[in-house]
Amino acid sequence: MSAACTLTKKPYSCNRCRKCFADGSNLSKHVRFSHTGEKSYACNKCCKRYLRNSDLKRHMRKHAGEGSRKCDSCGAEFSSEESLGAHQCGKNK
Ligand SMILES: [Zn+2]
Ligand SMILES: [Zn+2]
Ligand SMILES: [Zn+2]
Repeated sequence: MSAACTLTKKPYSCNRCRKCFADGSNLSKHVRFSHTGEKSYACNKCCKRYLRNSDLKRHMRKHAGEGSRKCDSCGAEFSSEESLGAHQCGKNK
């Protein structure tokens, strides 16, 4: 426990970043989110998990790249034939 934590009457201190918490459950929540990285963003194609949404999105782009389908009219890319089919761009008369 750091001295600062004792002073602020927050007896639980994170041993990784020295933040202080009044309550042990807040500390464990903090550790889980900030340090151990509970990876809450899961890829629905391969079940890889990511800490941040931006990381997941970057990863998803890889999937989109595999066998991606491109709309001839507007260049929009789709991950599957079905989603390209659902895209009605330039097909309405
Ligand atoms: Zn911490
Ligand atoms: Zn994936
Ligand atoms: Zn299009």
